[in-house]
Amino acid sequence: MQITSNFDSGNIEVIDSSNPQRVLLAMRADLRSHHFQWFHFKVDGLTPGQRYGFSLTNAGESAYPRAWPGYNAVASYDQVNWFRVPSRFEAGALEFALEPGAAQVWFAYFEPYSRARHDWLIEQAVSRAGAELFATGKSVEGRDIQLLRVSRNPDAPRRIWIIAQQHPGEHMAEWFMEGVIERLQNRDDAELNRLLEHAELYLVPNMNPDGAFRGHLRTNAAGKDLNRAWQAASEAESPEVFFVQQQMRAVGVDLFLDIHGDEEIPHVFTAGCEGNPGYDKRLEQLESRFRNRLVAVGAEFQTAHGYPQDAPGQANTTLACNAVGLEFDCLSFTIEMPFKDHDDNPDPHTGWNGKRSKQLGKDVLSVAAAMVHELR
Ligand code: ZN
Repeated sequence: MQITSNFDSGNIEVIDSSNPQRVLLAMRADLRSHHFQWFHFKVDGLTPGQRYGFSLTNAGESAYPRAWPGYNAVASYDQVNWFRVPSRFEAGALEFALEPGAAQVWFAYFEPYSRARHDWLIEQAVSRAGAELFATGKSVEGRDIQLLRVSRNPDAPRRIWIIAQQHPGEHMAEWFMEGVIERLQNRDDAELNRLLEHAELYLVPNMNPDGAFRGHLRTNAAGKDLNRAWQAASEAESPEVFFVQQQMRAVGVDLFLDIHGDEEIPHVFTAGCEGNPGYDKRLEQLESRFRNRLVAVGAEFQTAHGYPQDAPGQANTTLACNAVGLEFDCLSFTIEMPFKDHDDNPDPHTGWNGKRSKQLGKDVLSVAAAMVHELR
């Protein structure tokens, strides 16, 4: 049996593979950071039908140890179809076992969104969705951060921004963006045409390509959590945020959506700006209408579960959602999708996955279309 993780978004260390019934593994921490939770590795040389067991021995010391109970790892034989493998959290380790149907299998924390697929997505956006490459920033390690613009009416007054995967282990975020870009390819979509008559879209499909490539959970290559960098972004340590803020200040923002994944909570939910200074009735009503409409369009979404509300004036304005909402006095949300499942509509075979993330991206565009005239 060979175990490798020396590839895009790979992350695992082999401690002891001498017992195939219980291969001892550990997750590697992000570069210049103590965070870890993401794993992604390939096992080959397997005998189909034989049982193999794996133990992530340091799961209990990960960034979110409470994320493991109720979580099941994902696996794939072809890197296309991913399925859940029953897992259990025991004595600080995540344990799972499989009788593989093929000689090689990939395991991951969530269905990975590869850099190769990212490159394909950008190409699709430009060639088929009518997007233009509006600007390109650079990550700490020099990877491209593409900002796409979709502008079908030069007089459209509103600017809608959607950014994804600031937290590099949250691969569902770029799946969400793929849904957005896929829907934009249909020119007969009346809802979308109404939206684009009144708004330009600004899309950043991947905010943290270094972290994603390196198999990080939380930070960029300088060890910075980008979603805590929005009050003091620097070209040296958080150029990813610095770039996007510059672009936002140049064109304006009327609606901002920051796409994430949550390790612990088994539901899709949003976090808003209720703790921001200056948060008022207008913003409160916009938030409420956005959430209610997302339920009404039939999206996999709910409003009962989520983070505790910030007390008035107590928001952490280093977060993108709060910082952008404050600076541009606009409707601004963090959208969180689960690593586990959306328990309002569970699917034990796949859990929450790329396909469901894509559909949510499409559904959110319906809500943006319905609200585009109310944003100001
Ligand atoms: Zn996140």
